[in-house]
Amino acid sequence: MEELMAQVAELRRQNHQILTSLRATTQHHVVVESENAASDLGFPQQNPLAPPPEPPDPHQPPRHPPPSDPILYCPRQICRSVGSSRPRQICPAAATTPTRRIGIQGWGESAVAEQRCRVRGSLRLRTALISFIFLIFILLAPSGHAKRNTPSGKKSSPFDFVNKLKGCHKGNNTKEIHELKAYLEKFGYLKYPNKNQAIDDDFDDILESAIKTYQENYHIKPSGIVDDETISKMTTPRCGVPDIVNGTNYMQPRNRNHESGLSGIDTVSLYSFFPGNPKWPPSRTHLTYRFLPNLPAIAMDPVARAFQKWQSSTHFTFARAQPNQNSDLVIGFYSGDHGDIDPFVARDGTLAHAFAPMNGSFHYNADNRWSNGAFAGAHDLETVALHEIGHLLGLGHSSDAAVIMFPNMGAGLTKDLNANDIQGIRTLYNR
Ligand SMILES: [Zn+2]
Ligand SMILES: [Zn+2]
Repeated sequence: MEELMAQVAELRRQNHQILTSLRATTQHHVVVESENAASDLGFPQQNPLAPPPEPPDPHQPPRHPPPSDPILYCPRQICRSVGSSRPRQICPAAATTPTRRIGIQGWGESAVAEQRCRVRGSLRLRTALISFIFLIFILLAPSGHAKRNTPSGKKSSPFDFVNKLKGCHKGNNTKEIHELKAYLEKFGYLKYPNKNQAIDDDFDDILESAIKTYQENYHIKPSGIVDDETISKMTTPRCGVPDIVNGTNYMQPRNRNHESGLSGIDTVSLYSFFPGNPKWPPSRTHLTYRFLPNLPAIAMDPVARAFQKWQSSTHFTFARAQPNQNSDLVIGFYSGDHGDIDPFVARDGTLAHAFAPMNGSFHYNADNRWSNGAFAGAHDLETVALHEIGHLLGLGHSSDAAVIMFPNMGAGLTKDLNANDIQGIRTLYNR
């Protein structure tokens, strides 16, 4: 009897050791997998709003292989087979953990791996629960700098109202039409002499004419009807600088030629200038820029690269100003009304704006998801900077989608300078 009691006590002691060791192991896995939850939800891998990664603590032991290593996840069907014939090969995640931490005498490695994988199986449930709670938190969080994804990974577009106007044409009266009027007025297509007309929901002659002009600018058949192609263009995020300034449509080649007053402009050129052709004087070919404190650190390199690209292709040179020094150009990151003549409005979906020479201001709209490079659902900081620097130097919008000065910029894409962009600067500055 005493011998039996001694055996029971020994088994209890061994069980306690196992549980203690497994807890130490499992706590580590929860941290690693939780860190992966954000990327699993579809966020850009380089979130400008996230704090920079902390340097590794030299006093802490190294972690498991990086989360990108798929073997770390140890699929459950593999774990079930652990303990059969080839546990170490079948369950490599278990093999990466030092088995001495388990410290079970008389247990084979397959049994050790099986125990660990069982724990990970339950942990995956816990991790899934943590991910679910994290998702709920994200969805319920108030709107901050960046808009969040829906569970499907698709961002709710600020232009959703346009989708509800599919097929609308002159004579219709639908409650979203006043929003369409506001959209077209913001980008220069519409200006009602009577303010009441601007806020009603009547699809009138003036609106039809504005829709046709928009369609011409974006190479859509000018039907005056809100068709699929028009909706597709209008729901794409874009630059906040108007396409039509003071009633002159600079996206149309015929207007560029007559209004520019510059010699040597080809009537099929794909660049345009601001009214009056504002530009930097000949003595100002070296321009300095600085970042406002509200600009996320992750945006600095993309903007610097964009300046470098313009420098490589034009007679301009750019340099970042010393701290606390004035500069020719200023780059900031704002939401909503931020003190200039063109506030970012929640539903207008603009990405950024910049002003003609020699204003020098270039502002990102912080109410967008930004990335350094092409990431699904986010906008590339450098691509947008290339476009806005074009405005800073005096370029207007182009109607050609291949040109960096095309107003629309889709998510998940990158774009480079085009020969027409460079030719536009050379023409404007007679170089
Ligand atoms: Zn623009
Ligand atoms: Zn601004």
